[in-house]
Amino acid sequence: MQNTTSKELAQKLDRDDALTQYRSQFFVPPGKTRKEQIYFTGNSLGLQPKSVASYIQQELNDWAALGVEGHFHGKNPWFKYHHFFDREAKIVGAHADEVVVMNNLTVNLHLLLASFYRPTATRYKIIMEAGAFPSDMYVIESQVKHHGLVYEDAVVEIHPRKGEHALRTEDIVAKIREVGEECALLFFSGVQYYTGQYFDIKSLTTAAHNVGAYAGFDCAHAAGNVKLNLHDWDVDFAAWCTYKYLNSSPGGVSGVFVHQKHGNNPKTPRLAGWWGHKESERFQMKKGFIPEPGAAGWQLSNAPILAMAAHKASLDMFDEVGMDALVAKGKKLNEFLENIVNKAQEDNKKLAFEIITPADRGCQLSMLTNENGKALFDYLTANDVIADWREPNVIRLAPVPMYNSFMDIWEFGELLKSFSTP
Ligand SMILES: *Cc1c(COP(=O)(O)O)cnc(C)c1O
Repeated sequence: MQNTTSKELAQKLDRDDALTQYRSQFFVPPGKTRKEQIYFTGNSLGLQPKSVASYIQQELNDWAALGVEGHFHGKNPWFKYHHFFDREAKIVGAHADEVVVMNNLTVNLHLLLASFYRPTATRYKIIMEAGAFPSDMYVIESQVKHHGLVYEDAVVEIHPRKGEHALRTEDIVAKIREVGEECALLFFSGVQYYTGQYFDIKSLTTAAHNVGAYAGFDCAHAAGNVKLNLHDWDVDFAAWCTYKYLNSSPGGVSGVFVHQKHGNNPKTPRLAGWWGHKESERFQMKKGFIPEPGAAGWQLSNAPILAMAAHKASLDMFDEVGMDALVAKGKKLNEFLENIVNKAQEDNKKLAFEIITPADRGCQLSMLTNENGKALFDYLTANDVIADWREPNVIRLAPVPMYNSFMDIWEFGELLKSFSTP
């Protein structure tokens, strides 16, 4: 049988990896104990592409040389800068006019809920996963309050079955049927930030539509990580941040998806601003909002160009590589990581992990640890493994295809084997 955890295998996988040269296009932070950190938190903050500085410098130069004229006469005119991100559609499986980049994620969730959560006396419930990312919980909590509703009545949270960590699609679908015509909105993450579960977006969307509800997804951990087909799956809306898998600077801009059937309907209700106004008349400063067709009609403000320039640098790289190649390598990395982790706990009895990430997943592996968990995490940190600790007892690891290597994972495995408690 082939050895699935050897150094030779890791080296071979790196040699055969078509994306291997991309690592050198990123700043990998230096370690204290090794040349470079073993960086496994690309799901939290993606590393900086080396090209970012020049993309931002370009806009600074135009601002210096042209002032306000940069809006129309810069190299990348700011007036229509958001169109550089029409190709972001490829990352989430959408048409170009269904995607726009603007604001930050949580802001965009509120804007989308202003359009797609309009509760009535009889249809007012939101179904969501229990233990959602805190910002999403606060968004939903404050939205229902904003509409004068009571959380316990208006929000239906779905928990995993006893003894399980992931949600079963059949259980979510059953709950949607049960809530039925009271359900106004199904709001889920695409990939769950804690467990790493990649939800069956298509089935959940269909189930929501079958009871007459909208389906919206927070794709913060899905965009740039897993293959998405938001348009074909008939998702109503989605949003994501670009600083996780999409490497586009801390607090960077957010992407939004609005399905054509809503985006091309000027009557779809929304909160408006001048940047969402019909582009050809935007600077006529007239009364009466006429939305630009598509997701662009949800924009409020003129674009934060410096943050967007960072995103442009990253997106150029994603464009070059393509999601298919990334997803394929991501799967291999994840498989290798799982083998390494399992081997390490065979070899070192101080370790005991339960992998809580189900088979439907992207790059991330979440491991429930034993009583040595925090000591292990501190030991890893001291040895330059940048992972992520989530209370009460979970270590999350996300080797990402754009810049992580199979040797990163192998070296991590060696550290695991030599872990001992004091
Ligand atoms: C990272 C993340 C956020 C962060 O929101 P910001 O508005 O970008 O600070 C929100 N929701 C989910 C699910 C996330 O993973």
